[in-house]
Amino acid sequence: MSKAISQVPFAVNEPVRSYEPGSPEVKSLIDTYKKMWKEQVEIPMVIGGKNITTDEKVNLYSPQDHQHNLGFYHKGTMQHVEDAINAALQAKAKWNALGWEQRAAIFLKAADLIAGPYRDKLNAATMIAQSKNVHQAEIDSACEFIDFLRFNVEFMTEMYAEQPVSDNGIWNRSEYRPLEGFCFAVTPFNFTAISGNLPSCMAMLGNVVVWKPSDKQIYSAHVIMEVFKEAGLPDGVINMVFSDGKATAEKILSHPDFAGLHFTGSTAVFQNMWKMIGDNIHNYKSYPRIVGETGGKDFVMVHPSANAQAVATALVRGAFEYQGQKCSAASRAYVPKSLWSEVKKVMETQLNSIKIGSPEDPSNFVNAVIDQNSFEKCKGYIERAQASNEANVIFGGTCDGQKGWFVHPTVIETSNPKYESMCEEIFGPVLTVYVYEDQAWEETLKLVDETSPYSLTGSIFAQDRYAIDQAYKALENAAGNFYINDKPTGAVVGQQPFGGGRASGTNDKAGSKMNLLRWVSVRSIKETFVSPKDYKYPYLG
Ligand code: NAD
Repeated sequence: MSKAISQVPFAVNEPVRSYEPGSPEVKSLIDTYKKMWKEQVEIPMVIGGKNITTDEKVNLYSPQDHQHNLGFYHKGTMQHVEDAINAALQAKAKWNALGWEQRAAIFLKAADLIAGPYRDKLNAATMIAQSKNVHQAEIDSACEFIDFLRFNVEFMTEMYAEQPVSDNGIWNRSEYRPLEGFCFAVTPFNFTAISGNLPSCMAMLGNVVVWKPSDKQIYSAHVIMEVFKEAGLPDGVINMVFSDGKATAEKILSHPDFAGLHFTGSTAVFQNMWKMIGDNIHNYKSYPRIVGETGGKDFVMVHPSANAQAVATALVRGAFEYQGQKCSAASRAYVPKSLWSEVKKVMETQLNSIKIGSPEDPSNFVNAVIDQNSFEKCKGYIERAQASNEANVIFGGTCDGQKGWFVHPTVIETSNPKYESMCEEIFGPVLTVYVYEDQAWEETLKLVDETSPYSLTGSIFAQDRYAIDQAYKALENAAGNFYINDKPTGAVVGQQPFGGGRASGTNDKAGSKMNLLRWVSVRSIKETFVSPKDYKYPYLG
Protein backbone atom coordinates (compact mmCIF):
# COMPACT_ATOMS: atom_id res chain seq x y z
CA MET A 1 0.00 0.00 0.00
CA SER A 2 1.07 3.54 -0.73
CA LYS A 3 2.75 5.69 1.90
CA ALA A 4 1.46 8.98 0.55
CA ILE A 5 -1.85 10.75 0.05
CA SER A 6 -1.37 11.18 -3.68
CA GLN A 7 -3.12 13.73 -5.86
CA VAL A 8 -4.20 12.76 -9.35
CA PRO A 9 -3.55 15.01 -12.37
CA PHE A 10 -6.21 17.75 -12.61
CA ALA A 11 -8.75 16.63 -15.24
CA VAL A 12 -9.43 18.94 -18.19
CA ASN A 13 -11.60 18.16 -21.20
CA GLU A 14 -9.68 16.66 -24.10
CA PRO A 15 -9.45 19.27 -26.91
CA VAL A 16 -11.56 18.31 -29.95
CA ARG A 17 -9.52 18.06 -33.15
CA SER A 18 -11.06 20.12 -35.94
CA TYR A 19 -10.04 17.88 -38.88
CA GLU A 20 -10.03 20.74 -41.34
CA PRO A 21 -9.72 19.71 -45.00
CA GLY A 22 -6.06 19.10 -45.88
CA SER A 23 -4.90 18.97 -42.25
CA PRO A 24 -2.42 16.26 -41.20
CA GLU A 25 -4.97 14.99 -38.62
CA VAL A 26 -7.66 14.33 -41.20
CA LYS A 27 -5.20 12.67 -43.56
CA SER A 28 -3.92 10.37 -40.84
CA LEU A 29 -7.45 9.41 -39.73
CA ILE A 30 -8.76 8.75 -43.25
CA ASP A 31 -5.62 6.74 -44.12
CA THR A 32 -6.26 4.59 -41.02
CA TYR A 33 -9.92 4.19 -42.04
CA LYS A 34 -8.92 3.04 -45.54
CA LYS A 35 -6.35 0.60 -44.22
CA MET A 36 -8.76 -0.92 -41.68
CA TRP A 37 -11.56 -1.04 -44.29
CA LYS A 38 -9.46 -3.41 -46.41
CA GLU A 39 -8.52 -5.69 -43.52
CA GLN A 40 -10.54 -8.66 -42.31
CA VAL A 41 -10.78 -8.68 -38.51
CA GLU A 42 -11.30 -11.69 -36.33
CA ILE A 43 -12.66 -10.65 -32.96
CA PRO A 44 -12.50 -13.00 -29.98
CA MET A 45 -14.25 -12.63 -26.64
CA VAL A 46 -11.93 -11.85 -23.72
CA ILE A 47 -12.42 -13.98 -20.63
CA GLY A 48 -9.88 -14.07 -17.80
CA GLY A 49 -7.46 -12.19 -20.07
CA LYS A 50 -7.59 -14.92 -22.72
CA ASN A 51 -8.84 -14.50 -26.25
CA ILE A 52 -11.73 -16.92 -26.65
CA THR A 53 -12.77 -18.22 -30.05
CA THR A 54 -15.78 -20.41 -30.84
CA ASP A 55 -17.27 -22.36 -33.70
CA GLU A 56 -19.95 -19.73 -34.28
CA LYS A 57 -18.45 -16.99 -36.41
CA VAL A 58 -20.71 -14.00 -37.09
CA ASN A 59 -19.90 -11.71 -40.02
CA LEU A 60 -19.55 -7.98 -39.48
CA TYR A 61 -20.75 -5.48 -42.08
CA SER A 62 -20.52 -1.72 -42.34
CA PRO A 63 -23.75 0.35 -42.23
CA GLN A 64 -22.48 2.51 -45.14
CA ASP A 65 -21.89 -0.58 -47.29
CA HIS A 66 -23.91 -3.56 -46.12
CA GLN A 67 -22.22 -5.89 -48.60
CA HIS A 68 -18.75 -5.02 -47.35
CA ASN A 69 -17.55 -7.73 -44.98
CA LEU A 70 -15.27 -6.42 -42.25
CA GLY A 71 -14.46 -9.83 -40.83
CA PHE A 72 -16.22 -11.67 -38.03
CA TYR A 73 -16.58 -12.09 -34.30
CA HIS A 74 -16.81 -15.24 -32.23
CA LYS A 75 -20.23 -15.66 -30.68
CA GLY A 76 -20.40 -17.16 -27.20
CA THR A 77 -22.72 -19.52 -25.40
CA MET A 78 -24.02 -19.53 -21.85
CA GLN A 79 -20.97 -21.62 -20.88
CA HIS A 80 -18.83 -18.62 -21.88
CA VAL A 81 -20.98 -16.34 -19.77
CA GLU A 82 -20.47 -18.65 -16.82
CA ASP A 83 -16.73 -18.71 -17.52
CA ALA A 84 -16.73 -14.90 -17.55
CA ILE A 85 -18.50 -14.75 -14.18
CA ASN A 86 -16.01 -17.22 -12.70
CA ALA A 87 -13.04 -15.34 -14.17
CA ALA A 88 -14.34 -12.10 -12.65
CA LEU A 89 -14.88 -13.66 -9.24
CA GLN A 90 -11.44 -15.22 -9.36
CA ALA A 91 -9.79 -11.87 -10.14
CA LYS A 92 -11.68 -10.08 -7.38
CA ALA A 93 -9.54 -10.55 -4.26
CA LYS A 94 -6.28 -9.43 -5.86
CA TRP A 95 -7.86 -6.49 -7.68
CA ASN A 96 -9.64 -5.36 -4.53
CA ALA A 97 -6.39 -5.48 -2.55
CA LEU A 98 -4.52 -3.29 -5.05
CA GLY A 99 -3.98 0.32 -3.92
CA TRP A 100 -6.25 2.89 -5.58
CA GLU A 101 -3.28 4.73 -7.11
CA GLN A 102 -2.43 1.59 -9.10
CA ARG A 103 -6.00 1.34 -10.39
CA ALA A 104 -6.05 5.04 -11.21
CA ALA A 105 -2.77 4.75 -13.12
CA ILE A 106 -4.19 2.03 -15.38
CA PHE A 107 -7.15 4.15 -16.45
CA LEU A 108 -5.11 7.36 -16.76
CA LYS A 109 -2.76 5.42 -19.01
CA ALA A 110 -5.73 4.13 -21.03
CA ALA A 111 -6.85 7.76 -21.51
CA ASP A 112 -3.38 8.75 -22.75
CA LEU A 113 -3.23 5.76 -25.10
CA ILE A 114 -6.54 6.81 -26.65
CA ALA A 115 -5.47 10.46 -26.82
CA GLY A 116 -2.27 9.40 -28.57
CA PRO A 117 -1.39 6.15 -30.34
CA TYR A 118 -4.91 4.64 -30.41
CA ARG A 119 -6.86 7.77 -31.34
CA ASP A 120 -7.05 7.13 -35.07
CA LYS A 121 -7.68 3.43 -34.64
CA LEU A 122 -10.58 3.85 -32.20
CA ASN A 123 -12.07 6.71 -34.22
CA ALA A 124 -11.74 4.76 -37.48
CA ALA A 125 -13.36 1.65 -35.94
CA THR A 126 -16.28 3.84 -34.82
CA MET A 127 -16.53 5.42 -38.30
CA ILE A 128 -16.43 2.07 -40.08
CA ALA A 129 -18.80 -0.01 -37.97
CA GLN A 130 -21.07 2.62 -36.39
CA SER A 131 -21.08 5.05 -39.34
CA LYS A 132 -19.91 8.21 -37.62
CA ASN A 133 -18.23 11.01 -39.52
CA VAL A 134 -14.82 12.33 -38.39
CA HIS A 135 -16.32 14.91 -36.04
CA GLN A 136 -18.90 12.57 -34.49
CA ALA A 137 -16.27 9.88 -33.96
CA GLU A 138 -13.80 12.38 -32.47
CA ILE A 139 -16.27 13.80 -29.91
CA ASP A 140 -17.35 10.28 -28.91
CA SER A 141 -14.65 7.63 -29.12
CA ALA A 142 -11.76 10.02 -28.54
CA CYS A 143 -12.76 13.02 -26.44
CA GLU A 144 -15.74 11.78 -24.44
CA PHE A 145 -14.10 8.48 -23.62
CA ILE A 146 -10.84 10.16 -22.57
CA ASP A 147 -12.85 12.59 -20.44
CA PHE A 148 -14.77 9.76 -18.77
CA LEU A 149 -11.51 8.04 -17.82
CA ARG A 150 -9.69 11.13 -16.54
CA PHE A 151 -12.63 12.77 -14.76
CA ASN A 152 -13.72 9.51 -13.13
CA VAL A 153 -10.23 9.12 -11.67
CA GLU A 154 -10.54 12.60 -10.21
CA PHE A 155 -14.11 11.99 -8.95
CA MET A 156 -12.96 8.72 -7.37
CA THR A 157 -10.33 10.54 -5.31
CA GLU A 158 -12.80 13.28 -4.34
CA MET A 159 -15.19 10.59 -3.19
CA TYR A 160 -12.50 8.78 -1.20
CA ALA A 161 -11.54 12.10 0.41
CA GLU A 162 -15.08 12.65 1.73
CA GLN A 163 -14.75 11.65 5.36
CA PRO A 164 -16.91 12.06 8.45
CA VAL A 165 -16.07 14.29 11.44
CA SER A 166 -14.55 12.73 14.56
CA ASP A 167 -15.36 13.55 18.19
CA ASN A 168 -12.65 13.80 20.86
CA GLY A 169 -11.05 10.47 21.55
CA ILE A 170 -12.29 8.71 18.44
CA TRP A 171 -11.45 8.53 14.76
CA ASN A 172 -14.28 8.03 12.24
CA ARG A 173 -13.56 6.91 8.73
CA SER A 174 -15.50 6.01 5.59
CA GLU A 175 -14.14 3.28 3.39
CA TYR A 176 -15.50 3.07 -0.16
CA ARG A 177 -15.53 -0.68 -0.78
CA PRO A 178 -16.30 -2.19 -4.17
CA LEU A 179 -19.54 -4.18 -4.30
CA GLU A 180 -19.41 -7.79 -3.11
CA GLY A 181 -19.70 -10.15 -6.07
CA PHE A 182 -19.45 -9.09 -9.72
CA CYS A 183 -21.04 -6.35 -11.84
CA PHE A 184 -22.71 -6.56 -15.25
CA ALA A 185 -22.26 -3.86 -17.94
CA VAL A 186 -24.64 -3.88 -20.93
CA THR A 187 -23.92 -1.23 -23.51
CA PRO A 188 -25.60 0.26 -26.63
CA PHE A 189 -24.38 0.61 -30.21
CA ASN A 190 -24.43 4.35 -30.50
CA PHE A 191 -21.58 5.60 -28.29
CA THR A 192 -18.13 4.03 -28.10
CA ALA A 193 -17.47 6.25 -25.07
CA ILE A 194 -20.47 4.88 -23.17
CA SER A 195 -19.51 1.32 -24.00
CA GLY A 196 -16.04 1.88 -22.56
CA ASN A 197 -17.21 3.90 -19.59
CA LEU A 198 -19.83 1.55 -18.19
CA PRO A 199 -17.48 -1.35 -17.42
CA SER A 200 -14.40 0.79 -16.70
CA CYS A 201 -15.91 3.14 -14.12
CA MET A 202 -17.03 0.16 -12.08
CA ALA A 203 -13.66 -1.57 -12.44
CA MET A 204 -11.80 1.62 -11.47
CA LEU A 205 -13.44 1.40 -8.03
CA GLY A 206 -12.22 -2.15 -7.46
CA ASN A 207 -15.18 -4.03 -8.94
CA VAL A 208 -14.91 -6.95 -11.35
CA VAL A 209 -17.10 -6.93 -14.42
CA VAL A 210 -18.77 -9.02 -17.11
CA TRP A 211 -19.33 -6.72 -20.11
CA LYS A 212 -21.71 -7.45 -22.96
CA PRO A 213 -21.42 -4.84 -25.71
CA SER A 214 -24.03 -4.39 -28.44
CA ASP A 215 -23.35 -6.70 -31.39
CA LYS A 216 -23.35 -3.52 -33.57
CA GLN A 217 -20.42 -2.06 -31.64
CA ILE A 218 -18.14 -5.07 -31.33
CA TYR A 219 -15.55 -3.65 -33.74
CA SER A 220 -14.72 -0.64 -31.55
CA ALA A 221 -15.28 -2.64 -28.32
CA HIS A 222 -12.44 -4.89 -29.47
CA VAL A 223 -10.12 -1.85 -29.74
CA ILE A 224 -11.17 -0.74 -26.25
CA MET A 225 -10.14 -4.12 -24.80
CA GLU A 226 -6.82 -3.80 -26.61
CA VAL A 227 -6.28 -0.41 -24.96
CA PHE A 228 -7.21 -1.74 -21.50
CA LYS A 229 -4.76 -4.60 -21.91
CA GLU A 230 -1.96 -2.31 -22.99
CA ALA A 231 -2.79 0.00 -20.08
CA GLY A 232 -2.13 -2.91 -17.73
CA LEU A 233 -5.63 -3.94 -16.65
CA PRO A 234 -5.14 -7.32 -14.95
CA ASP A 235 -6.76 -10.43 -16.43
CA GLY A 236 -10.34 -11.11 -15.37
CA VAL A 237 -11.17 -7.60 -14.13
CA ILE A 238 -13.24 -6.83 -17.26
CA ASN A 239 -14.47 -9.83 -19.25
CA MET A 240 -16.08 -9.16 -22.63
CA VAL A 241 -18.65 -11.64 -23.96
CA PHE A 242 -20.55 -11.67 -27.25
CA SER A 243 -23.64 -13.68 -26.45
CA ASP A 244 -27.38 -13.43 -26.88
CA GLY A 245 -28.64 -10.45 -24.83
CA LYS A 246 -31.72 -12.00 -23.27
CA ALA A 247 -30.14 -15.36 -22.44
CA THR A 248 -27.06 -13.61 -20.99
CA ALA A 249 -29.25 -11.41 -18.83
CA GLU A 250 -31.18 -14.45 -17.57
CA LYS A 251 -27.96 -16.25 -16.69
CA ILE A 252 -26.27 -13.32 -14.98
CA LEU A 253 -29.26 -11.85 -13.21
CA SER A 254 -30.04 -15.16 -11.51
CA HIS A 255 -26.50 -15.58 -10.12
CA PRO A 256 -26.21 -15.21 -6.31
CA ASP A 257 -23.06 -13.06 -6.65
CA PHE A 258 -24.61 -10.58 -9.09
CA ALA A 259 -24.03 -7.18 -7.45
CA GLY A 260 -24.88 -4.43 -9.93
CA LEU A 261 -26.23 -3.66 -13.40
CA HIS A 262 -24.83 -0.73 -15.41
CA PHE A 263 -27.03 -0.46 -18.48
CA THR A 264 -27.47 1.94 -21.36
CA GLY A 265 -29.92 1.11 -24.15
CA SER A 266 -33.62 1.03 -24.84
CA THR A 267 -36.31 1.42 -22.20
CA ALA A 268 -38.07 -1.92 -22.83
CA VAL A 269 -34.87 -3.94 -22.44
CA PHE A 270 -33.98 -2.14 -19.20
CA GLN A 271 -37.46 -2.59 -17.74
CA ASN A 272 -37.34 -6.27 -18.55
CA MET A 273 -33.98 -6.64 -16.81
CA TRP A 274 -35.25 -4.77 -13.76
CA LYS A 275 -38.16 -7.23 -13.62
CA MET A 276 -35.74 -10.19 -13.80
CA ILE A 277 -33.78 -8.72 -10.90
CA GLY A 278 -37.01 -8.40 -8.91
CA ASP A 279 -37.89 -12.01 -9.66
CA ASN A 280 -34.47 -13.13 -8.42
CA ILE A 281 -34.28 -10.91 -5.36
CA HIS A 282 -34.32 -13.87 -2.94
CA ASN A 283 -31.28 -15.44 -4.61
CA TYR A 284 -28.79 -12.62 -4.15
CA LYS A 285 -26.22 -12.22 -1.40
CA SER A 286 -26.78 -8.43 -1.45
CA TYR A 287 -29.30 -6.03 -2.96
CA PRO A 288 -27.98 -5.28 -6.45
CA ARG A 289 -27.43 -1.72 -7.64
CA ILE A 290 -29.44 -0.92 -10.78
CA VAL A 291 -28.37 1.96 -13.01
CA GLY A 292 -29.91 2.42 -16.44
CA GLU A 293 -29.91 5.23 -18.97
CA THR A 294 -32.53 4.56 -21.61
CA GLY A 295 -34.65 6.14 -24.37
CA GLY A 296 -35.65 9.71 -25.10
CA LYS A 297 -38.08 11.86 -27.07
CA ASP A 298 -36.20 15.08 -26.80
CA PHE A 299 -37.88 18.41 -27.40
CA VAL A 300 -37.07 21.88 -28.66
CA MET A 301 -39.59 24.42 -27.40
CA VAL A 302 -39.48 27.77 -29.17
CA HIS A 303 -40.90 31.05 -27.83
CA PRO A 304 -42.00 33.84 -30.24
CA SER A 305 -39.09 35.98 -28.95
CA ALA A 306 -36.48 33.43 -30.13
CA ASN A 307 -33.91 33.98 -32.84
CA ALA A 308 -35.10 32.01 -35.91
CA GLN A 309 -31.60 31.41 -37.31
CA ALA A 310 -30.39 29.98 -33.97
CA VAL A 311 -33.49 27.76 -33.71
CA ALA A 312 -33.07 26.39 -37.23
CA THR A 313 -29.37 25.66 -36.65
CA ALA A 314 -30.08 23.88 -33.36
CA LEU A 315 -32.74 21.77 -35.08
CA VAL A 316 -30.49 20.82 -37.99
CA ARG A 317 -27.57 19.90 -35.74
CA GLY A 318 -29.66 18.51 -32.88
CA ALA A 319 -31.90 16.31 -35.02
CA PHE A 320 -29.57 15.14 -37.78
CA GLU A 321 -26.03 14.82 -36.42
CA TYR A 322 -25.20 11.12 -36.20
CA GLN A 323 -28.44 10.52 -38.11
CA GLY A 324 -30.55 11.30 -35.03
CA GLN A 325 -29.14 8.21 -33.29
CA LYS A 326 -28.23 10.01 -30.10
CA CYS A 327 -30.46 9.40 -27.11
CA SER A 328 -30.43 13.20 -26.77
CA ALA A 329 -31.34 13.97 -30.43
CA ALA A 330 -34.00 16.63 -31.02
CA SER A 331 -36.98 14.73 -32.36
CA ARG A 332 -39.98 16.95 -31.63
CA ALA A 333 -40.14 20.73 -32.00
CA TYR A 334 -42.81 23.23 -31.02
CA VAL A 335 -42.54 26.41 -33.10
CA PRO A 336 -44.81 29.48 -32.86
CA LYS A 337 -46.70 30.39 -36.02
CA SER A 338 -45.10 33.85 -36.20
CA LEU A 339 -41.59 32.34 -36.46
CA TRP A 340 -42.25 29.18 -38.44
CA SER A 341 -41.86 30.47 -42.00
CA GLU A 342 -38.46 31.99 -41.19
CA VAL A 343 -37.26 28.94 -39.22
CA LYS A 344 -38.40 26.70 -42.08
CA LYS A 345 -36.63 28.83 -44.68
CA VAL A 346 -33.30 28.73 -42.84
CA MET A 347 -33.65 24.98 -42.21
CA GLU A 348 -34.32 24.38 -45.90
CA THR A 349 -31.24 26.35 -46.92
CA GLN A 350 -29.08 24.47 -44.42
CA LEU A 351 -30.55 21.05 -45.20
CA ASN A 352 -30.15 21.60 -48.95
CA SER A 353 -26.42 21.99 -48.42
CA ILE A 354 -26.03 18.77 -46.40
CA LYS A 355 -24.14 15.93 -48.00
CA ILE A 356 -25.03 12.33 -47.28
CA GLY A 357 -22.74 9.33 -47.68
CA SER A 358 -19.89 7.31 -46.23
CA PRO A 359 -17.76 8.75 -43.39
CA GLU A 360 -14.74 8.04 -45.57
CA ASP A 361 -15.53 11.40 -47.19
CA PRO A 362 -15.32 13.88 -44.28
CA SER A 363 -17.56 16.37 -46.10
CA ASN A 364 -20.56 14.06 -45.53
CA PHE A 365 -22.53 15.49 -42.61
CA VAL A 366 -25.04 12.62 -42.54
CA ASN A 367 -23.97 8.96 -42.77
CA ALA A 368 -25.87 5.68 -42.58
CA VAL A 369 -28.24 4.47 -39.87
CA ILE A 370 -26.97 1.45 -37.97
CA ASP A 371 -28.77 -1.45 -39.66
CA GLN A 372 -31.68 -2.64 -41.75
CA ASN A 373 -34.06 -2.71 -38.74
CA SER A 374 -33.40 0.93 -38.06
CA PHE A 375 -33.69 1.76 -41.79
CA GLU A 376 -37.08 0.00 -42.03
CA LYS A 377 -38.30 1.65 -38.83
CA CYS A 378 -37.51 5.15 -40.15
CA LYS A 379 -39.04 4.29 -43.52
CA GLY A 380 -42.23 3.15 -41.80
CA TYR A 381 -42.64 6.45 -39.93
CA ILE A 382 -41.94 8.41 -43.12
CA GLU A 383 -44.38 6.40 -45.25
CA ARG A 384 -47.14 6.63 -42.66
CA ALA A 385 -46.61 10.40 -42.44
CA GLN A 386 -46.78 10.65 -46.25
CA ALA A 387 -50.13 8.84 -46.17
CA SER A 388 -51.54 10.66 -43.14
CA ASN A 389 -53.96 13.57 -43.26
CA GLU A 390 -52.51 14.87 -39.98
CA ALA A 391 -48.90 15.08 -41.22
CA ASN A 392 -46.82 16.29 -44.16
CA VAL A 393 -43.27 15.35 -45.02
CA ILE A 394 -41.92 18.83 -45.72
CA PHE A 395 -38.28 17.93 -46.16
CA GLY A 396 -36.37 14.76 -47.11
CA GLY A 397 -38.28 11.48 -46.96
CA THR A 398 -35.88 9.56 -49.19
CA CYS A 399 -34.63 6.19 -47.94
CA ASP A 400 -31.94 4.62 -50.07
CA GLY A 401 -30.88 1.18 -48.87
CA GLN A 402 -29.15 -0.04 -52.02
CA LYS A 403 -25.56 0.22 -50.86
CA GLY A 404 -25.79 1.42 -47.27
CA TRP A 405 -28.64 2.23 -44.85
CA PHE A 406 -29.08 5.88 -45.85
CA VAL A 407 -32.11 7.78 -44.60
CA HIS A 408 -32.12 11.42 -45.73
CA PRO A 409 -32.77 14.06 -43.06
CA THR A 410 -36.54 14.23 -42.87
CA VAL A 411 -38.84 16.87 -41.39
CA ILE A 412 -42.49 16.06 -40.75
CA GLU A 413 -44.95 18.86 -39.98
CA THR A 414 -48.03 17.75 -38.06
CA SER A 415 -51.29 19.39 -37.05
CA ASN A 416 -51.70 16.86 -34.22
CA PRO A 417 -49.36 17.44 -31.26
CA LYS A 418 -49.93 13.82 -30.22
CA TYR A 419 -49.16 12.42 -33.68
CA GLU A 420 -47.13 9.18 -33.39
CA SER A 421 -43.81 10.73 -34.41
CA MET A 422 -44.27 13.46 -31.75
CA CYS A 423 -44.49 10.78 -29.03
CA GLU A 424 -42.42 7.72 -29.93
CA GLU A 425 -38.64 7.32 -30.03
CA ILE A 426 -37.64 6.72 -33.68
CA PHE A 427 -33.86 6.87 -33.24
CA GLY A 428 -33.19 8.07 -36.77
CA PRO A 429 -32.95 11.33 -38.77
CA VAL A 430 -36.66 12.18 -38.52
CA LEU A 431 -37.77 15.42 -36.84
CA THR A 432 -41.44 16.29 -36.30
CA VAL A 433 -42.60 19.90 -35.93
CA TYR A 434 -45.83 21.09 -34.40
CA VAL A 435 -46.66 24.71 -35.16
CA TYR A 436 -48.65 26.37 -32.35
CA GLU A 437 -50.59 29.65 -32.16
CA ASP A 438 -48.37 32.28 -30.48
CA GLN A 439 -50.95 32.95 -27.76
CA ALA A 440 -50.99 29.21 -26.85
CA TRP A 441 -47.48 29.35 -25.33
CA GLU A 442 -48.58 28.28 -21.83
CA GLU A 443 -50.75 25.37 -22.90
CA THR A 444 -48.01 24.27 -25.31
CA LEU A 445 -45.56 24.09 -22.38
CA LYS A 446 -48.02 21.68 -20.74
CA LEU A 447 -48.13 19.65 -23.98
CA VAL A 448 -44.33 19.41 -24.07
CA ASP A 449 -44.33 18.11 -20.51
CA GLU A 450 -47.09 15.54 -21.01
CA THR A 451 -46.59 14.22 -24.54
CA SER A 452 -44.01 11.48 -24.02
CA PRO A 453 -43.16 9.05 -21.20
CA TYR A 454 -39.49 10.09 -21.46
CA SER A 455 -37.54 12.84 -19.75
CA LEU A 456 -34.03 12.89 -21.13
CA THR A 457 -33.08 16.18 -22.82
CA GLY A 458 -34.88 19.29 -23.98
CA SER A 459 -34.21 22.85 -25.13
CA ILE A 460 -35.98 26.13 -24.77
CA PHE A 461 -35.29 28.97 -27.21
CA ALA A 462 -36.30 32.52 -26.21
CA GLN A 463 -34.87 36.01 -25.79
CA ASP A 464 -37.61 36.99 -23.32
CA ARG A 465 -36.24 36.21 -19.83
CA TYR A 466 -39.74 35.85 -18.31
CA ALA A 467 -40.52 33.21 -20.94
CA ILE A 468 -37.29 31.37 -20.15
CA ASP A 469 -38.15 31.40 -16.47
CA GLN A 470 -41.68 30.19 -17.18
CA ALA A 471 -40.43 27.28 -19.32
CA TYR A 472 -37.70 26.46 -16.80
CA LYS A 473 -40.37 26.01 -14.12
CA ALA A 474 -43.08 24.36 -16.25
CA LEU A 475 -40.59 21.81 -17.64
CA GLU A 476 -38.83 21.06 -14.34
CA ASN A 477 -39.35 17.30 -14.69
CA ALA A 478 -39.49 17.07 -18.49
CA ALA A 479 -35.73 16.68 -19.00
CA GLY A 480 -32.71 15.51 -17.00
CA ASN A 481 -30.51 17.71 -19.22
CA PHE A 482 -32.12 21.08 -19.94
CA TYR A 483 -30.70 23.56 -22.45
CA ILE A 484 -31.41 27.27 -22.82
CA ASN A 485 -30.80 28.65 -26.32
CA ASP A 486 -28.76 25.61 -27.35
CA LYS A 487 -29.38 22.26 -29.03
CA PRO A 488 -30.27 19.36 -26.70
CA THR A 489 -27.26 17.19 -27.67
CA GLY A 490 -23.53 17.23 -26.95
CA ALA A 491 -23.25 16.94 -23.15
CA VAL A 492 -19.63 17.19 -22.03
CA VAL A 493 -18.17 15.11 -19.17
CA GLY A 494 -17.49 17.26 -16.12
CA GLN A 495 -19.63 20.09 -17.50
CA GLN A 496 -23.17 18.74 -18.02
CA PRO A 497 -23.50 15.41 -16.12
CA PHE A 498 -25.80 13.34 -18.31
CA GLY A 499 -28.97 11.37 -17.62
CA GLY A 500 -32.74 11.52 -17.50
CA GLY A 501 -35.70 10.53 -15.37
CA ARG A 502 -39.19 9.12 -15.97
CA ALA A 503 -38.92 6.34 -18.63
CA SER A 504 -35.45 7.64 -19.64
CA GLY A 505 -33.58 6.08 -16.76
CA THR A 506 -32.45 6.21 -13.18
CA ASN A 507 -30.72 9.58 -13.74
CA ASP A 508 -27.47 8.55 -12.09
CA LYS A 509 -25.51 10.96 -14.29
CA ALA A 510 -22.78 9.15 -16.19
CA GLY A 511 -19.34 10.69 -15.78
CA SER A 512 -20.01 12.18 -12.37
CA LYS A 513 -19.40 11.41 -8.71
CA MET A 514 -23.13 10.65 -8.38
CA ASN A 515 -22.67 7.68 -10.71
CA LEU A 516 -19.51 6.40 -9.01
CA LEU A 517 -21.28 6.33 -5.65
CA ARG A 518 -23.57 3.61 -7.01
CA TRP A 519 -20.64 1.18 -7.41
CA VAL A 520 -19.32 1.32 -3.89
CA SER A 521 -20.67 0.18 -0.56
CA VAL A 522 -19.44 2.36 2.27
CA ARG A 523 -18.03 0.88 5.45
CA SER A 524 -18.15 3.24 8.44
CA ILE A 525 -15.30 2.71 10.83
CA LYS A 526 -15.19 4.07 14.37
CA GLU A 527 -12.02 3.66 16.38
CA THR A 528 -11.97 4.57 20.08
CA PHE A 529 -8.52 5.39 21.43
CA VAL A 530 -9.12 4.85 25.14
CA SER A 531 -11.91 2.31 25.58
CA PRO A 532 -14.28 2.64 28.61
CA LYS A 533 -13.55 0.13 31.37
CA ASP A 534 -16.84 0.30 33.33
CA TYR A 535 -20.41 -0.09 32.05
CA LYS A 536 -21.82 2.59 34.43
CA TYR A 537 -22.71 5.97 32.94
CA PRO A 538 -22.57 9.02 35.27
CA TYR A 539 -26.40 9.23 35.42
CA LEU A 540 -26.41 5.88 37.27
CA GLY A 541 -24.74 7.62 40.19
P1 NAD B 1 -30.80 -1.90 -27.18
O1 NAD B 1 -31.70 -1.79 -26.00
O2 NAD B 1 -31.31 -2.60 -28.36
O3 NAD B 1 -29.44 -2.66 -26.77
C1 NAD B 1 -28.69 -2.25 -25.64
C2 NAD B 1 -27.94 -3.47 -25.11
O4 NAD B 1 -28.89 -4.41 -24.60
C3 NAD B 1 -27.14 -4.21 -26.18
O5 NAD B 1 -25.94 -4.67 -25.62
C4 NAD B 1 -28.05 -5.36 -26.54
O6 NAD B 1 -27.36 -6.47 -27.07
C5 NAD B 1 -28.68 -5.68 -25.21
N1 NAD B 1 -29.97 -6.35 -25.33
C6 NAD B 1 -30.85 -6.31 -26.35
N2 NAD B 1 -31.95 -7.02 -26.06
C7 NAD B 1 -31.77 -7.52 -24.82
C8 NAD B 1 -32.57 -8.32 -23.95
N3 NAD B 1 -33.77 -8.74 -24.31
N4 NAD B 1 -32.08 -8.60 -22.72
C9 NAD B 1 -30.87 -8.14 -22.34
N5 NAD B 1 -30.07 -7.40 -23.11
C10 NAD B 1 -30.51 -7.09 -24.34
O7 NAD B 1 -30.33 -0.41 -27.51
P2 NAD B 1 -29.44 0.10 -28.74
O8 NAD B 1 -30.24 0.01 -29.99
O9 NAD B 1 -28.09 -0.50 -28.71
O10 NAD B 1 -29.26 1.65 -28.34
C11 NAD B 1 -30.24 2.60 -28.60
C12 NAD B 1 -31.07 2.89 -27.37
O11 NAD B 1 -30.22 3.28 -26.30
C13 NAD B 1 -32.03 4.04 -27.58
O12 NAD B 1 -33.26 3.76 -26.96
C14 NAD B 1 -31.33 5.20 -26.91
O13 NAD B 1 -32.18 6.23 -26.48
C15 NAD B 1 -30.67 4.51 -25.76
N6 NAD B 1 -29.51 5.26 -25.26
C16 NAD B 1 -29.68 5.98 -24.12
C17 NAD B 1 -28.63 6.74 -23.63
C18 NAD B 1 -28.79 7.54 -22.37
O14 NAD B 1 -27.79 8.00 -21.83
N7 NAD B 1 -30.01 7.73 -21.88
C19 NAD B 1 -27.41 6.75 -24.31
C20 NAD B 1 -27.28 6.00 -25.47
C21 NAD B 1 -28.34 5.25 -25.93
